Amino acid sequence: MTLSAYIHFPYCLQKCPYCDFASTGIARQDVPQRAYTDAVLRELQQRAPALQHQRLSSIFFGGGTPSLWEPAELGRVLSALRAAFGDRVEPELEVSVECNPSSLDAARARALSAQGVDRLSIGVQGLDPVRLRFLGRMHDRQRALEALRDALGAVPRVSADLIFGLPGQSPAEAVSDALTLVDLGLSHLSAYALTIEEGTQFGQLARKGRLPLAREGDVADSLTAVAEALSARGFEHYEVSNHARPGQRARHNLHYWRGGAYLGLGAGAVGCLHEAVGSARRYRNDPDPARYMQRAGGPEREVFSEILGPQDMLREQLMLGLRTLDGVELARAQALTGRALSDGREAALERALSRGDAVLEDGFLRVPRARWLHLDSIVADLF
Ligand code: SF4
Repeated sequence: MTLSAYIHFPYCLQKCPYCDFASTGIARQDVPQRAYTDAVLRELQQRAPALQHQRLSSIFFGGGTPSLWEPAELGRVLSALRAAFGDRVEPELEVSVECNPSSLDAARARALSAQGVDRLSIGVQGLDPVRLRFLGRMHDRQRALEALRDALGAVPRVSADLIFGLPGQSPAEAVSDALTLVDLGLSHLSAYALTIEEGTQFGQLARKGRLPLAREGDVADSLTAVAEALSARGFEHYEVSNHARPGQRARHNLHYWRGGAYLGLGAGAVGCLHEAVGSARRYRNDPDPARYMQRAGGPEREVFSEILGPQDMLREQLMLGLRTLDGVELARAQALTGRALSDGREAALERALSRGDAVLEDGFLRVPRARWLHLDSIVADLF
């Protein structure tokens, strides 16, 4: 069985007003580089014995802002992961690092590459100065484009994140940003509609009615227009929010969306380890970096843990797999859970198929791309 590893780096130079990820604002010089790395290594050492039968297929450093992590320290984690899995590291191992334009330059990109990183994912989010200010981002258009060029000069695969659906932003503007980015030579683009989450600054403003919002129609139109424009450039729209040149899909994310097991390391990291057919344990580490560092070597680092049964695992596969172009592979779903996907949802499946909301083809259940705007209700009906 293959396993992905996700390592969370919980620090950012400042907190963005829309962000609900586990991240803490910190001055660059105050990041506890060595102490945090040591804590992650303690956690890995403690979890590794339970992973003896798994093959490692991808490693993803996410955050937070992992480009604030000194490459040599991040490299210690990479080496330890390689050592822990030994000859069970897949030859095609994908190693990705999320970066912010404000903490990535050519030297850092090359240093990450020297540590074995082969894919950089840059949080550009936008190119227009008004939108970047609205999102509270620290970089401007020029810094974003420079960071992308620096990344492209250092590693073979570069992706960017873009947020659309911002107040006052037309679909044409979203398309123009997306094309400017991919025309630099990116192999992958993640394009997300802005979502307003509870507990964020934007969430509070929205509750008080003080957050300007995009027009509903503009958000859906932007999603369609960006997908069409990227498709004309040869990109595959292979997941609702993700576009890739042929052969350049993010393997780490695909593994999640296919219901694969993943090891989570670091403050606030979530992991989901398969214990047997039809049984998985999902956990979340303490999101507070100081507490995590104190407790990393033992089970008390976890603040949440639950056992997933076969139906929980099938629901996850529906929720994630149906967001992809490939859909859910029925044989794989059954092999992971011991149950047929259709078990207990025969009538709902019949309904989805007869309405054209889903199709069954070559052993996959998928939602046609033309219905992706209605995914939430289609999946809810199959739950
Ligand atoms: S840089 Fe990313 S992780 Fe950090 S606060 Fe902003 S959106 Fe959140």
